[in-house]
Amino acid sequence: MTKIVILGGGTGGTLVANRLRRLYSEADAEIVVVDQDDHHVYQPGLLFVPFGLSRVEEIVRPRARQLHSGISFKEGAIESVDIEARLVHLSDDATLPYDVLVLATGAVLAPEETEGLLEAGWMERVFTFYEPESATALEKALRDFKGGRIVVNVIDMPIKCPVAPLEFCFLADWYFTERGIRDKVQLTYATPLDGAFTKPVASKQLGSMLAEKGVELVTEFNTGEVDGANGKLIAYDGTEVQFDLAVVIPLHSGAAYVGRSPGLGDELNFVPTDERTLQSKVAPNIFVIGDAANVPASKAGSVTHFEGETLVENVKGFVAGEALIPGFDGHANCFIESGFHKALLIDFNYDTEPLSGHYPAAIGLPLLKESRLNHLGKLMFQWFYWHSLLPGRDIPGIGSDMPVAGKTQVKKSERSAS
Ligand SMILES: Cc1cc2nc3c(=O)[nH]c(=O)nc-3n(C[C@H](O)[C@H](O)[C@H](O)COP(=O)(O)OP(=O)(O)OC[C@H]3O[C@@H](n4cnc5c(N)ncnc54)[C@H](O)[C@@H]3O)c2cc1C
Repeated sequence: MTKIVILGGGTGGTLVANRLRRLYSEADAEIVVVDQDDHHVYQPGLLFVPFGLSRVEEIVRPRARQLHSGISFKEGAIESVDIEARLVHLSDDATLPYDVLVLATGAVLAPEETEGLLEAGWMERVFTFYEPESATALEKALRDFKGGRIVVNVIDMPIKCPVAPLEFCFLADWYFTERGIRDKVQLTYATPLDGAFTKPVASKQLGSMLAEKGVELVTEFNTGEVDGANGKLIAYDGTEVQFDLAVVIPLHSGAAYVGRSPGLGDELNFVPTDERTLQSKVAPNIFVIGDAANVPASKAGSVTHFEGETLVENVKGFVAGEALIPGFDGHANCFIESGFHKALLIDFNYDTEPLSGHYPAAIGLPLLKESRLNHLGKLMFQWFYWHSLLPGRDIPGIGSDMPVAGKTQVKKSERSAS
């Protein structure tokens, strides 16, 4: 019997466990999932909490209930992995031996790494919506906000869902318009990037939308310090952005146990991983899914979902002593909520920019274009998450590779001009 241990019971760990359980009989493989708590948060829902459009209770479910029968759930904090001994150490001194290890421990927030961020003003005028407690506190702060400058600031990349801070800006524009005080609120988006987003075509489109909605864009802003007492962000080069309320996306890193495990991670505690096979580069029997990997794809639930098929195929191939398939193409697919009941959709992979057109084929959801249909898609996605994506079911018509049908190709000259 093959012992498969999956570290992390979030998006990637859950869907991989369920797909593997379907693949192997209980006589052929033992599957154990480890997580430090039993609260599975639907993280895309955190965006809506500060605007009173969702509550944390509505986006959290027990982890164990998302796992098919025949999968053991072990609640406990991971202390370290001993690659040589093929052993996981938990903080209660328990150990778990494995034949195959799947790392699905995601990315963690590291607000303590930014000077001043957790000091004066934290949870009073400085918040993040990237975790439930602060997203809930921010809801009250926004409700009480009567006017002034709000800055949304990404401290540094990589972050989970790189479009979420932009969505926050768009929703803030809608929220204060609805409250009738938009003219009293100045919105600023301060980013370390040289544009609104990483990909040129999408960056141009999203930058225009910020401008249309009256959101000031401050680029190449590398936050060195958050001064909550005096309401300012201070960049390493000395430039400052004033605020009455700051919504900060803290630095991200891989889970701390990765750093405690000799040879497992890089300097940010992400795990070196082959970007196509999802086999780790640290040991052949270790595979990595989702935000924990150092692959050059977005840190997004959609990416994690699309990786699942290749990873499961390759675990099967590895156990059978067969060659691995370079199956993952970097496919990412993100709805971008733009306020006023509309959203955009972007679809891209390692080789192809987000392009206009339709998804998943010539007839489908409009790409890079605001529409009510995309907004409904974003809202419906929560249902798909719990009922299709986590159980490891294939969604009809949606494959894991990026579809090329329906996309409008962009000429090289237009791409470099944008
Ligand atoms: C505000 C926000 C909005 C987002 N919006 C979108 C969106 O619209 N679309 C999209 O595709 N993606 C979105 N994402 C990103 C998406 O949620 C993540 O990319 C996805 O959940 C990654 O899955 P994962 O399995 O890698 O990590 P996770 O789902 O985060 O799971 C990691 C698990 O590992 C566990 N763990 C970590 N360390 C330890 C330890 N030492 N011991 C035990 N357990 C441990 C954690 O408890 C956690 O359950 C958003 C994220 C945020 C924060």
